[in-house]
Amino acid sequence: MRAEVILMKCPETGGIYGVRTEERHGDWYRTWAFKVSERTAAREGFDKTVIRGNLIPDDDYNGCPYCKAVYFVQCNRCGKLSCWNGEERMTCAWCGLTGDTRQIEEAIDVEGGGY
Ligand SMILES: [Zn+2]
Ligand SMILES: [Zn+2]
Repeated sequence: MRAEVILMKCPETGGIYGVRTEERHGDWYRTWAFKVSERTAAREGFDKTVIRGNLIPDDDYNGCPYCKAVYFVQCNRCGKLSCWNGEERMTCAWCGLTGDTRQIEEAIDVEGGGY
């Protein structure tokens, strides 16, 4: 089973965190989020992880360790991921781009409806 760690950033606190993901049948399940320092993230290469496909929160996914967000948006300028708590407008936690959540797209994940 492939498992990777992707990085996300929390706009409320500016904190970064790693999200452990597992590949199951071609989709990626987010299983665990944990605080990480930028130094550790860089050393471990978490910022270089590239995965494709849906990013589905597992039933046990604990959410952002700072604000508990389960969902995220992907910035269409820098391509990085930030927590999303349902705001209509938000600022990318990484590069500062402000837009509505259509401009900062709701990410590569497709939740499959029902949410
Ligand atoms: Zn957060
Ligand atoms: Zn950005």
